[in-house]
Amino acid sequence: MGEKEKLDELNGYWQENCQCDLKKTATRAVFGEGNPNSQIVFIGEAPGKKEDEEGIPFVGSAGKFLSELLNSIGLERKDVYITNIVKYRPPSNRDPEPKEKEDCNDWLIGELKIISPKLIVLLGRHSMSRFFPEAKISEVHGKLLIKKIPEFEEKLYFMPIYHPAAALYNGGMREVLMKDFKKILKAVEKINQKTQ
Ligand code: URA
Repeated sequence: MGEKEKLDELNGYWQENCQCDLKKTATRAVFGEGNPNSQIVFIGEAPGKKEDEEGIPFVGSAGKFLSELLNSIGLERKDVYITNIVKYRPPSNRDPEPKEKEDCNDWLIGELKIISPKLIVLLGRHSMSRFFPEAKISEVHGKLLIKKIPEFEEKLYFMPIYHPAAALYNGGMREVLMKDFKKILKAVEKINQKTQ
């Protein structure tokens, strides 16, 4: 079975079995999307209104900026894999609660195991705190972090970056995000050299 089929199976399983309470209020589950063989996975926080309507991650205004950021480093959405910590939209786009993140956790871990990316880009502090609960995004954004996660045998490589939505309310953040995005491909190159 190829990665695409494995992801379809995983999504089918968790769509039925995920115990997340957000299921009751969301229109649908928003599955990860993109290239299942990508070396880079982007993890956002949770679907918003547009994502909930369309069933596709990052299709609203933050998503448009994410596409722009990808284009700025010569990538397109279809080249990478994009998903969220939580697969269902929280009501009124409130922050997902710890229990909701926990309930969607095995789903996310399943995606990462199938794709086995070289680099995991954590978009925003909610995504970052799943793997680095103590870290401050203002201190670690754009940095390559390496960590052993209990669910994986090998150490994983991460780069936390500010959430693209942050740039919609703060113009200065646009430049910071652009600058950090430029570090992504170099980081992948470095990881490939180390792990060959
Ligand atoms: N913000 C996120 O974190 N994820 C989405 O899918 C859309 C907006």
